[in-house]
Amino acid sequence: MLSPRQLFLQHQAQTTDFPLLLEVEKAEGVFMYGPNGERYLDLISGIGVSNVGHRHPRVLQAIHDQLDKYLHLMVYGEIVQAPPAQLAHALAQTLPAGLDNVYFVSSGSEAVEGACKLAKRYTGRTELIAFDKAYHGSTQGSLSLNGSESFKRAFRPLLPDVRHIRHNSFPDLALITSRTAAVILETVQGEAGVRIPAPGYLEALRARCTQVGALLILDEIQSGFGRTGTFWAFEQFNVVPDILTCAKGMGGGMPIGAFISRQEVMHSLKNDPMLGHITTFGGHPVSCAASLATLRVLQEENLLGQVPAKAEAFKKRLVHPAIKEIRHLGLMMAVEFNSFETLKAIIDNAILKGVLTDWFLFCDHSMRIAPPLTITFPEIEEACALIMAAISEEVR
Ligand code: PMP
Repeated sequence: MLSPRQLFLQHQAQTTDFPLLLEVEKAEGVFMYGPNGERYLDLISGIGVSNVGHRHPRVLQAIHDQLDKYLHLMVYGEIVQAPPAQLAHALAQTLPAGLDNVYFVSSGSEAVEGACKLAKRYTGRTELIAFDKAYHGSTQGSLSLNGSESFKRAFRPLLPDVRHIRHNSFPDLALITSRTAAVILETVQGEAGVRIPAPGYLEALRARCTQVGALLILDEIQSGFGRTGTFWAFEQFNVVPDILTCAKGMGGGMPIGAFISRQEVMHSLKNDPMLGHITTFGGHPVSCAASLATLRVLQEENLLGQVPAKAEAFKKRLVHPAIKEIRHLGLMMAVEFNSFETLKAIIDNAILKGVLTDWFLFCDHSMRIAPPLTITFPEIEEACALIMAAISEEVR
């Protein structure tokens, strides 16, 4: 009988040169547990997924309740189901008035695909503008928007009429014109290593889009659902997007994504051709039930209010000459080191000590820290002490 690790190596396709090969049998709250009693403090939350912690009891209860009713039926137009309808309503209530039409999909990449199709349909234009170091997904359309050439090179030709401008460059905003269907931006760039908009930048971007009639798509797949301390990161800036994408933390551990816009914009998907965007599993009732419970946990358990103090607790304890900078908005954090080699050694050492961290796709010398928002202050202390011990052993 082969072990799960042997079966994994033999049959599960991998695209990383650095598989961690961590065996986990159970996860609960901020911890993951291995088969031999190992315990890992999870500081990455499945890349911003487990914002309410692993197996939050209210999320589990909502899943159980839905399992007793039905699994898959059909969502779009055919059958009215309470979970997606109630979730759409609850999402709309977290958003500025008017941003109240939700199209459910199953992942972040799909949400981005849908958002871009919607923008093209609504404006009748084709040009899409994205940013350097952007990450929007792995499907061919969303991949086209990514800001890293090395990621895209092997797959060209990709989507035509996509252009990239520099993040936080005010002069580059002039490149957004009346040809542009949409500009897509992560409110806080994630895989770039947590890049936050400069003062006034989002507001200027919003104004430019409005001026030339381009739609503004904010990608909150990584920054949404409380990660930055507000339900949506854009609440911390004086802007409202035309289309919002979300996924990851939205499902509390279940796969789900969505793109959201005003009804008037979303209506353009209905026009000829009849099927503007379709999906089999989008709005899966179990995922929607889990998502609604996640949303309620975030609203009712005062997790958001504690985010700034928890971020400060990390910052206060992660102090070392090898740490060049800490960038963060709430608990979306990047701790910058000199090189990938240094960081990789620290990450590997920290795992042996029982703390799981990571790097970023387009910023491989910064450590990703994005714990479940449920992490307690003593857990933060423990995590930081272990990371600091790993740093002092690896940096001499
Ligand atoms: N947009 C952003 C900002 C992301 O961080 C990600 C995932 N890292 C995606 C889109 C793609 O999401 P998924 O992996 O669910 O397709």
